[in-house]
Amino acid sequence: MREACGVYGIYSYDGDHLAKPTYYGLFSLQHRGQESAGIFTSDGQKFRGKVGMGLVNVVFNSEEDLKDFTGNIAIGHVRYSTTGSSVIANAQPIIVESKFGPIALGHNGNLINTDELRSELPDYKFKSTTDSEVIAALLANSPENDFEAALTATLKKCRGAFSLVIMTLDKLIGVRDQHGIRPLSVGKMNQAYVIASETCGLDVVGADFVRDVAAGEMVIIDKNGLQSKTWSRGEKEALCVFEFIYFARPDSLLGGRSFHDVRVNLGKYLAKEQPAEAEMVIAVPDSGIPASMGYASEEKIPYSEGMIKNRYIGRTFIQPSQIMRDIGVKLKLNPIRDAIRGRKIVVIDDSIVRGTTSRQIVRMLRDNGAREVHMRISSPPILCPCFYGIDTATRSELIAANLSVEGIRKYIEADSLGYLSLKSLVKATNLPQDRLCLACLNGEYPVKAPERMQSLKLAGF
Ligand code: AMP
Ligand code: SF4
Repeated sequence: MREACGVYGIYSYDGDHLAKPTYYGLFSLQHRGQESAGIFTSDGQKFRGKVGMGLVNVVFNSEEDLKDFTGNIAIGHVRYSTTGSSVIANAQPIIVESKFGPIALGHNGNLINTDELRSELPDYKFKSTTDSEVIAALLANSPENDFEAALTATLKKCRGAFSLVIMTLDKLIGVRDQHGIRPLSVGKMNQAYVIASETCGLDVVGADFVRDVAAGEMVIIDKNGLQSKTWSRGEKEALCVFEFIYFARPDSLLGGRSFHDVRVNLGKYLAKEQPAEAEMVIAVPDSGIPASMGYASEEKIPYSEGMIKNRYIGRTFIQPSQIMRDIGVKLKLNPIRDAIRGRKIVVIDDSIVRGTTSRQIVRMLRDNGAREVHMRISSPPILCPCFYGIDTATRSELIAANLSVEGIRKYIEADSLGYLSLKSLVKATNLPQDRLCLACLNGEYPVKAPERMQSLKLAGF
């Protein structure tokens, strides 16, 4: 499984119709996953809700769909995944029965010791192939008699990335893994607490940001309010740097700064390190826009829209096959000919994974009359695969793991190509390097994946 998902939860002290705000919360996290969506609520007696395949507004396509999901606690999930795992059984939240009553769980991230954990439950009938169900099953089958003790014992066994929302009949719990690889924030509104993968999920329901859940922390929200427990201490923090580069929505905040702001700075540093002789800066929409604005202002070259994105199509990366990916770019982006024709263009994107997108964009710009096309990337080359839930492909598919920068330039047919340095990337995040995961850029994995998993992802090398 390789999903990067969005999780959401609300606990209300005065309302019992939380399915609707959860729907809007998930809607704002839709960029984190478009494959499946689900919402469950608890009224203290029982759970109600559903999961389905597709976008949030496809799974829940009318108010009617939500009206029966009553209760003062709700959790929701949007799932992102790649080839092979696009099945309803893998949709979340997952529901399991236990001696503590029913438990619902939504997971963002990827465990690296799923096989080992699964073997602890040889007789359990798993319904899905997800690592998330393994967490839920371990919790439900824990020998501990106290729920929090069972949860702590389960979490201590898990290795890898997991930001979780968990619901019992009377509690909402938010958890971040030992390293804090995936984000998770807490907000408050009127008489309710909200937990969301990103702060844009708090904004949409009018909740004020309270704080990020810390690495190794769980927050438990129930009739007594919010309590925090540290379930793991002393591990290295390793927030995914790809949240800054690409994944998080630009209007979400981290440490009081928007990801937009970080990305504008990435563009400014890129201009300093990789200037280009050009007449116009354009972006690959939407992911390259903030960086290209930063680049243009630093280089004092005019910025223009050069391509229009059809926003009704999901990210091309989500398409399962190479053929679909090839078509996907054309479906998604169309150049504005008059802006491009006869000009020397710098085109900025946030990253190159396989190289397919960049190659098609360069071609498209040339076919539409660009005189020169200079590609600039607001992150360093991706050299290694990710084991923690972001699909950056296997090593054999990663173009930068197989070709030099000059080799990539030739492949994408650009007049020049320049990447941002790791040092400038770290500087733009405003976090110390030792609190970030940079593994796909420098090979330093905060949690070592088992051999079997490594050999799959490092295939072809
Ligand atoms: P590629 O064509 O494989 O080189 O993909 C590069 C494009 O995918 C860039 O435009 C990125 O914005 C985007 N991208 C980078 N990382 C991811 C990811 N993990 N999931 C989806 N899209 C991504
Ligand atoms: Fe993020 Fe890369 Fe680390 Fe994966 S390996 S968690 S994509 S920084």
